Amino acid sequence: MTGTTIRAITPHVLMAELSEPFAYSQAWYRRRGAMLVEITTEDGITGWGEAFGPPELTAPIVVWLAPLVIGQDAMAREAIWQALYNRLRDHGQRGLVVEAISAIDIALWDIAGQALGLPVHRLLGGPLRLEIEAYATGFYRRERGDHLQYLVEEAEQRRAEGFRALKLKTGWGLKQDIALTREFRAAIGPDCGLLVDCNHAYDATAAITYGNAVADCDIGWFEEPVPPEDIAGYLEVKARQPLPVAGGEASFARWGFAEMIARRSVDILQPDVAACGGISELKKIADMASAFGVRVNPHVWGTGVTLAASLHLLAVIPDNPPGLFPRPPLLELDRSPHPVRDEVTSMPAISAEGRVRVPEAPGLGVQVDRDALRRFAV
Ligand SMILES: [Mg+2]
Repeated sequence: MTGTTIRAITPHVLMAELSEPFAYSQAWYRRRGAMLVEITTEDGITGWGEAFGPPELTAPIVVWLAPLVIGQDAMAREAIWQALYNRLRDHGQRGLVVEAISAIDIALWDIAGQALGLPVHRLLGGPLRLEIEAYATGFYRRERGDHLQYLVEEAEQRRAEGFRALKLKTGWGLKQDIALTREFRAAIGPDCGLLVDCNHAYDATAAITYGNAVADCDIGWFEEPVPPEDIAGYLEVKARQPLPVAGGEASFARWGFAEMIARRSVDILQPDVAACGGISELKKIADMASAFGVRVNPHVWGTGVTLAASLHLLAVIPDNPPGLFPRPPLLELDRSPHPVRDEVTSMPAISAEGRVRVPEAPGLGVQVDRDALRRFAV
């Protein structure tokens, strides 16, 4: 037994009611939660991880996996990842199981960094960059008010905070989406970056109609035009409309991304560190994408734990293509309501130029407020 032997692993299911519900194209959010994983070692280091996905469903998987983790050396991240994935391969190659493994892997990187006194991006061989340009996610549907009016007000707020690019949520019906996109672009002006995300609300036919109808709106990417299983649909959308196509937040582990990369079903790959298999797996996915010339922009939608893990990866994702003037990856910074995120975890600040610094403290460099953790515990 060494000091970094794992002593305990605890999932925390956290939930908060939202004062104002909001919707994306697939569901209304009335409550919003998080599933954080706490791993402690014999010498008293605590690492934090997080799983994307319903907290009440991922937490029991962590409990089930705990006997395979306790007693192992926390530094043996790769060995632990493979043991967990192989144990459930026949039942969980995607979805909740890989999300639970993601949380464990992130916590182990946090421990390794603290044990060695180094930030995670340095363990990953970085940094290539320590400041990441952020774009604002939000722009959801509300129950009351004029949709375009409150979206434009939200855009003004984000621009004032420093953001130079915004991601508009669509998927409210094709006709309405086309009109909304055109009106929103006109309202924010030509200098602001604009991305669109319908969360797979279309089939390929509708996505092609949409992409062509907003071709003159200077859109950086069209995210999840069709359901993640529909690789042929992605290929059709890429071929028959002009917007760059993004996707990957609902894909899992190297094998799920290998098909997307090899078949070139997206222009921009969006693995989520809290879903795709953790920091270990996202780095492998980013390196595979680099070999095939596919851009990588991680999907980020959690607490400060997921955000910190994503920032360390953003510090080392290879430039695609390399050069004196590369196009660096962007940070997705979610600005929609999330009381658990805001009160439980420390969040990095955004600069007046719309940039966020990669943490330089040992490990992930994220603080967890124990009192808040107890307040939101289910
Ligand atoms: Mg999305």
